[in-house]
Amino acid sequence: HPKLELINLVKEYEDGAVVAVDKIDLEIQAGETLALLGPSGCGKSTTLNMVVGLEEPTSGDILIDGQSVVRMPAGKRNVGLVFQDYAVFTTMSVRKNLAFGLEVRGTPKSEIKRAVEEVAELLDMREQLDARIRDLGGSELQRVAIGRTLVTKPAILLLDEPLSNLEYAARLSMRRELRRLQSEIGLTIIYVTHDQIEALSLADRIAVMNAGKILQVEDSAVICQKP
Ligand code: ADP
Ligand code: ADP
Repeated sequence: HPKLELINLVKEYEDGAVVAVDKIDLEIQAGETLALLGPSGCGKSTTLNMVVGLEEPTSGDILIDGQSVVRMPAGKRNVGLVFQDYAVFTTMSVRKNLAFGLEVRGTPKSEIKRAVEEVAELLDMREQLDARIRDLGGSELQRVAIGRTLVTKPAILLLDEPLSNLEYAARLSMRRELRRLQSEIGLTIIYVTHDQIEALSLADRIAVMNAGKILQVEDSAVICQKP
């Protein structure tokens, strides 16, 4: 089975007056990074929201490891979503932010400590574990946001414009960080962006979306080739 399959997936709003996602089909293999590339309002976030379980499809199916998840609660899907605006707790330490997702699940303290240190190591943030969020720079914030999701060990990671709020230098270092995650833990990633360069530099394949439809899916290596 592919890791994730979207089958004839539809999301309508306002009794069908708005078709945000219009019959999309997509297969993503385990360990693959797919970029969803398209202009604002084309249905990218709605697609991610359905995969993570924040929105219910109007019709169609979502399979993870061959099993339908559309009736499965978000907490059981093993899918992590990182929002564009970070959603970190600014008055807490990095450690506390990373621990949060496990604390609300009632994970034992010793296990939380181990998981937090593992993620800090992975994201190269061991030195900053006790720093306050407000003392961090943009790319460090973004790493904390990703770390907060990774600590729950999702099999599929969804990133909604993760670099769009960062300045140039921070974008480059965040890009390196994401590449490292891809190679070190072989996560399956869907990455939403409206930036073609970003899509090309991070994804194995690129799905081009417009007005709720997927127009084309292509290997990034193919797109990069000169004619
Ligand atoms: P993107 O992430 O590509 O910017 P979205 O998935 O956010 O696009 O939105 C797709 C379309 O669906 C847009 O036209 C948007 O206005 C519409 N939309 C999204 N959420 C809702 C909602 N809750 N109610 C009505 N329309 C919505
Ligand atoms: P993005 O482009 O990242 O999807 P938006 O600003 O389009 O961000 O959407 C932010 C939130 O507003 C989302 O939760 C989306 O569902 C909701 N939304 C978007 N468009 C509409 C709309 N026309 N009516 C109601 N809610 C909407």
